[in-house]
Amino acid sequence: MGYEVDKTEEQWRAELSPAEYTVLRQAGTEPAFTGEYTDTKTEGVYSCRACGAELFTSGTKFASHCGWPSFFDPKDSDAVELIEDRSHGMLRTEVRCAKCGSHLGHVFEGEGYPTPTDQRYCINSISLRLSPEE
Ligand SMILES: [Zn+2]
Repeated sequence: MGYEVDKTEEQWRAELSPAEYTVLRQAGTEPAFTGEYTDTKTEGVYSCRACGAELFTSGTKFASHCGWPSFFDPKDSDAVELIEDRSHGMLRTEVRCAKCGSHLGHVFEGEGYPTPTDQRYCINSISLRLSPEE
């Protein structure tokens, strides 16, 4: 697979909760407006819940009112991997952690949000872990 963090599905299943495993390793989606970081405004860094790689910062988080944490730009462009996703009869762009390949969410663009990139990284809360700034 070529990911820096390369574990078997058995290892992931042992390390993650069932809900985390479903989203991160099986590309599931947490129900809208249920994630712990949907409306969080705490300043800090959001890391991958599977491998700890730093993925997003609070400075690029914005209120999209879509029900999931939304960011307009990753922390580093190579922190995430973008993959064409044709599941569910739609053409979307899947966002994965570039370090471990875990599913994070999807990215949409051209929706007209007043952000510098006009992109919305729509990320599952359960895929992330926030480290608040001291
Ligand atoms: Zn990861």
